[in-house]
Amino acid sequence: MKSVANKNILEIKPYVPGRPIEEVQRELGLDDVIKLASNESPYGPSPKVLKAIAQAAKNINRYPDGNCFYLRRTLAKKLKAAEEQIVFGNGSDEIILLALRAFAREGDEVIIAQPSFLMYEIAAKISGAKPILIPLKNFRYDLTAMKQAVTDKTKIIFIGNPDNPAGTYVTQSQVEDFLKDLRGNILVFFDEAYFEFVRKNDYPDTMGLLKRYKNIIITRTFSKMYGLAGLRVGYGVADKELIDILNRIREPFNVNSLAQAAALACLNDKGYYRQVAQRIEKERQYLCQSFKKMGVRFVATVTNFLLLEVDQGGSQIAGKLLKRGVIVRDMSFWGLNNFIRVTIGTRKENQKFIKALRGIL
Ligand code: PMP
Repeated sequence: MKSVANKNILEIKPYVPGRPIEEVQRELGLDDVIKLASNESPYGPSPKVLKAIAQAAKNINRYPDGNCFYLRRTLAKKLKAAEEQIVFGNGSDEIILLALRAFAREGDEVIIAQPSFLMYEIAAKISGAKPILIPLKNFRYDLTAMKQAVTDKTKIIFIGNPDNPAGTYVTQSQVEDFLKDLRGNILVFFDEAYFEFVRKNDYPDTMGLLKRYKNIIITRTFSKMYGLAGLRVGYGVADKELIDILNRIREPFNVNSLAQAAALACLNDKGYYRQVAQRIEKERQYLCQSFKKMGVRFVATVTNFLLLEVDQGGSQIAGKLLKRGVIVRDMSFWGLNNFIRVTIGTRKENQKFIKALRGIL
C-alpha cells in the first residue's frame, strides 16, 4: 500500500514516545524501574479526582458530553474567557493537529523552532505543509529569525512556551514585539503545556493578548501539572471565530467522560495542585544542586524537566541508565547527540536517578 499512501505521510518520522515502565521491566527483568522520560507528573491524581473518576465510571455505557459542558463552564470562569472561546482536545496534541488541518495545506509553510516539540513538524507534514525549521539560539527561541523566515506562504508559527525539550521560555515583551507587525492572517500557536510550572514575572500573559489579537491560540493540558496524562485532555483558547472553525473538524466525542470528570475535579482541587507545584519546584532545586555538585551541565529550566549535557553521548548514557532501571530520554532523535532529558520525579526517584548517573559518570 506504500505506493498509494499520501507522499507527505511517508516523509514523517514516527513520534517515539518514552518507553513504558512495564515494557522495560519485562525486557530487562528488573523489578524497580522508574520513568523520568515523558514529563509526566510523578504524583498521582488527588483523592477528589479519583473519586470523580469512580463516579463517572458508572456511566461509561453512555457517550461523553461532546460539548464538555461542566468542564467548559468552570474553565471559562477560571480563565475569564467566554465559553465559546475554548476548544477541548484528546490531549493538547489534538489541538495542534486540528489547527494544521484547518489552516494549512500543501504548499503552505509552518515555522517551527528546532529542536522543539516533535508534534509540530509531524502535524505540519500530515497536512502537506512545509516545516521551516529555525534553530534555537542558546537553547532559546530566536524570535527575530523566526519572524525573518515569514513569507507569503506562512500559515502558522509555533511557539512552545516554555518549550520542550529545552525547558526555556520567551518573555512578555519578546512576544509583544513578535506579534506587533506580524501579518494578521498568520496563526501564532502558543503551546503552554508547561505553563503551570513557570514562576517568572516576565512570562507572557497570552490570555490578555487575546483581547488584541484574533490570530493567536493558546493551548494547555491536564497531562502535566494535573497528572492526567493517561486520560488525554487538553484545551485551546482563542477568538470565538477561530474556535468555531476548530470545533467543526474535531470528532464529536473527542474527550472521554472520565477525562472530563477528572479535569473538572482538578480545577476544583486547587490546594492539592498548589502542593504538587511546590514539591516539583523543590525537586527542581534539588536536582539542579546535585548536577552542579557533579559538574554536569544543564539548561536552566522553568518546567518539570531538564536537559543535561553528557559528553559520553545521550544514547550511551540513556542506555546505561535504563539498565539501572531509570528511563530517561536520549535526545539524539532531536539532533542533540550529547544530551539526555530527564523529568523531575519524586525525591526517591530523583535520588535513584542521581545515584545511577553518578555511578555511570
Ligand atoms: N506540547 C508540548 C510542548 C509537550 O511536551 C506535550 C507533551 N509531551 C504536549 C504539547 C502534548 O501534551 P498532551 O497531548 O498530553 O496534552
